[in-house]
Amino acid sequence: MNGLGRRFVNEAAPYLEFVDAMYKDNASSGGRSIPAWVIFDAHFRFNYAMGPLMPGQVMPDSRLRKEWLNSVYWKAETLAELAGQIGVDAAGLAATVRQMNEYARTGIDTDFARGGNAFDLYYGDVNVKPNPCLAPIAKGPFYAMRLDAGDIGTKGGLLTNAEAQVIRADGSPIPGLYAIGNTSASVMGTAYPGAGGTLGPAMTFGYIAAHHIARGA
Ligand SMILES: Cc1cc2nc3c(=O)[nH]c(=O)nc-3n(C[C@H](O)[C@H](O)[C@H](O)COP(=O)(O)OP(=O)(O)OC[C@H]3O[C@@H](n4cnc5c(N)ncnc54)[C@H](O)[C@@H]3O)c2cc1C
Repeated sequence: MNGLGRRFVNEAAPYLEFVDAMYKDNASSGGRSIPAWVIFDAHFRFNYAMGPLMPGQVMPDSRLRKEWLNSVYWKAETLAELAGQIGVDAAGLAATVRQMNEYARTGIDTDFARGGNAFDLYYGDVNVKPNPCLAPIAKGPFYAMRLDAGDIGTKGGLLTNAEAQVIRADGSPIPGLYAIGNTSASVMGTAYPGAGGTLGPAMTFGYIAAHHIARGA
């Protein structure tokens, strides 16, 4: 959620879409989405991993590095207290949690359809019903983690053909000039299907380019 305590995206979306939504919401919310915040309760903390925090059942708070408190994660007995600690609007947070708990009960997120497709369900918990991606945020203490925007690579770069040769505006290849990875435009355009979506094509087109060069083509 953003600093107003409002959601702005399906939180189960791929990270590329998530950060894109962060930037868009940051522009429309007056700069309140970078950083964004993940909010969870004691039940979630005990059962699931979040970032560097292993589930509390194997790594309780008492075993976490002391300097992580109030830098990597924040913790409070109430949501209002947590909101105060992280500078998030408390009324907005309370309203969003009420709404999320209702979605957890019905299984339908009418705002962003979290858990509404097979990809979301990959990280869901099949034991959580009716929607494996939605559980109530109800049991204190409550936790927050800060999300900053980052980049994993570029989507711009030189246009290439199927041999990884850089092409001119008219589509003809420039002999001897190849581009792969961040220097080349993505074979997937502006989309990012998931982890490996950059290194996979980079290695593949590197291999293709090397063979093309070796053939002396
Ligand atoms: C946190 C993170 C997680 C990621 N996770 C994944 C993942 O799970 N799967 C996946 O597929 N991809 C992932 N990526 C993306 C992937 O790492 C990049 O797409 C990939 O590293 C790009 O490789 P590259 O060789 O094209 O560019 P780079 O790795 O950026 O290499 C460019 C090199 O050129 C050097 N350089 C720059 N300018 C000059 C200069 N003027 N002269 C000489 N050298 C120069 C730089 O120092 C650098 O060493 C992730 C990226 C990040 C940041």
